[in-house]
Amino acid sequence: MEQKPIKKVLVANRGEIAIRVMRSCREMGIETVAVFSDADRTAMHVRYANEAYNIGPAPSSESYLNIDKIIDTAKKSGSDAIHPGYGFLSENSTFSRRCRKAGIKFIGPSPESIEMMGDKISARKKMIAAGVPVVPGTTEKLTSEAKAIKCIKEIGLPVMIKASSGGGGKGMRLVKLESEIGSSLRAARSEAKTSFGDDSLYIEKYIDSPHHIEFQILADQYGNTVHLFERECSVQRRHQKVVEETPSPLLTPEVRTAMGECAVAAAKAANYEGAGTIEFIMDEQLNYYFLEMNTRLQVEHPITERVVGVDLVKEQIRIAEGAKLPFKQKDLKQSGHSIECRIIAEDTKNNFMPNPGTITHITEPYGFGIRCDSYVYEGYTIPIYYDSLISKLIVWGRTRDEAIDRMRRALFEYKITGIKTTIRFLERIMDTPDFKNGTYNTHFIEKNSEFLLSDGICDRSCEDMAMIATFAQYLSQFEISKITNAAPSEKGESNWKRQLRKFTARI
Ligand code: ADP
Ligand code: ADP
Ligand code: MG
Repeated sequence: MEQKPIKKVLVANRGEIAIRVMRSCREMGIETVAVFSDADRTAMHVRYANEAYNIGPAPSSESYLNIDKIIDTAKKSGSDAIHPGYGFLSENSTFSRRCRKAGIKFIGPSPESIEMMGDKISARKKMIAAGVPVVPGTTEKLTSEAKAIKCIKEIGLPVMIKASSGGGGKGMRLVKLESEIGSSLRAARSEAKTSFGDDSLYIEKYIDSPHHIEFQILADQYGNTVHLFERECSVQRRHQKVVEETPSPLLTPEVRTAMGECAVAAAKAANYEGAGTIEFIMDEQLNYYFLEMNTRLQVEHPITERVVGVDLVKEQIRIAEGAKLPFKQKDLKQSGHSIECRIIAEDTKNNFMPNPGTITHITEPYGFGIRCDSYVYEGYTIPIYYDSLISKLIVWGRTRDEAIDRMRRALFEYKITGIKTTIRFLERIMDTPDFKNGTYNTHFIEKNSEFLLSDGICDRSCEDMAMIATFAQYLSQFEISKITNAAPSEKGESNWKRQLRKFTARI
C-alpha cells in the first residue's frame, strides 16, 4: 500500500473535539477546514481553523449530519481527508463509504468494519466466532414478545433489553421482574426507533455490580494491532460516563494482559484500521465480557494519551496516510495515573437538566499535570441544539492519590459563571470514600447521590465569592460616581472603604 501524505483535513464536527483534532493537525503542519451551522458562527472551532464554511441551519440533521453538504465542502476546499470526531457522523458507514467514493480519505475504519461493529447483534456474533467472551444473551433480533419472554426465561432475570443500534446509553432497559417484560420491551423498542431509526432489540444477562472497563486499540493498514491499555469508566449516570480513569483500580496485571490480548483479537476479527475502543463489562470476580466496539475516537481518549504518551489523533492521521504503527506492544507502558472529569452545562440540583446560556465569566485551571480540552470563552453563548459538554478536565499524577488531589485542586480553580455546571458535583465525587478508595462500580452515583448532591462544607473561596457578590449587590443601590467622587473622611478614609465598613457591620 502506498503512503500518501495528508495536507488538508476537514473536521466534520464542532465543540471541544473539533479543536482537539485541529491541534494535532497544526502540529503536523496540516491545514484545517471547519464546518459550522448557523448557530455556531461565533464558535471557537471556526476561529481556530485555517478556513471555515457554513453548512446549514442549527439542527444537526440539517448541518453536522448533512453528508452531501460536508462532502461538497471537502471538495470545494481541496481537503484530502475528513476527520469525523465522535458523535455525529463518526460511526456512520454511509458517510465513510461516500468519502471513499469521492476520493477523500475518511480518518477512521472502513465502512465494512463500521457496519460489522456498529450493529451490536452482528458484533456479538463476530466476537463469539473470534473466541472473545460476550455477555450471555441472544444473537438474533427479537421478533416477537413471546420469543423474547422465552429467551429471558432461558437466560434468567435480571436482563438488559438493548437496542442493536444503541449508543449514548439510550434504548436500554433493565428488567428485574417477569411482569415488567412486556412494558420494557415496548419502551426500549420505541426509544430505539426514535433515537436510532432502527428498532432491532436483543437481550443480555444483567451483570451484577458491574464495572465498565474499555481498551484502546490502534491498528494500521498492514494488520499490526496494539492496545494502549484500559480506561475505567464505571462512574456513570444513566449509563453515560461522568468520570474516567486509567489505570483501573480493579485490574490485576494478569487480567489486564488477558483483556488487552482479547481486545486486539476483537479488533483483528473486525479487520479494523485506525483508533477504536473495545468496551467490556466486568463482574466482581473479574470475569469480563465484550459489550461493544466504538469505531471512533472516544470522548475520554486523553487519559490514555497522558498515561501511555501517545497522541491518538496523530496516530489516526498517520494510519490514514498509510504509515505503519511506529511501536510494538512491548514498547507501550502505562506511566502514572490519569483522571478525566466531564464538565457539563447541567443543573445538577434540577435532575441534571441541560443548562445552556451565556458564560459571563470563566477561569480555567492551569499548572503541572493539568489539561483542559474546552471550546468555550467569556461571553460565549452555548447553543441549545447540541451536546451540553463544555470541556474535559484531565489530570495526571505519579500515583492515583496524587491524581485525585490534583483533580480536586483543578476543580477548585475552575470557575464558570452565567450557567450552571457539574463542577461542584465532580468535586464531591473526588471526596466520596468509594471513589477515593477505588471501590466503586456503575451504581456509584446512584448509591452516593445524597452526598454528591449536598453542598458540603463551603470552603473559604466560596465564602469570599459570596461576600464579594453580596457587596456588589449592596453597592448597586448607590451611584458609583458618588462614592468615587466623595471626599475622604476626616480620618482620611476613602468613601469606598467607608462603604465596605458599613456593609461588614451589617452582615
Ligand atoms: P464515549 O464512549 O466516547 O464516551 P459516549 O457514549 O459518551 O461515548 O458518546 C459520545 C458522544 O457521541 C456523545 O455526544 C453521544 O451523545 C454521542 N453518541 C454516541 N453514540 C451515539 C449514537 N449511536 N447515535 C447518536 N449519538 C451517539
Ligand atoms: P452504549 O452503546 O449506549 O454505550 P453499552 O452497551 O456500551 O451502550 O452500555 C452502556 C452502559 O450500560 C455500560 O457501561 C453499563 O453501565 C450498562 N450496561 C450495559 N449492558 C449491561 C449489562 N449486560 N449488565 C449490566 N450493565 C450493563
Ligand atoms: Mg458504550
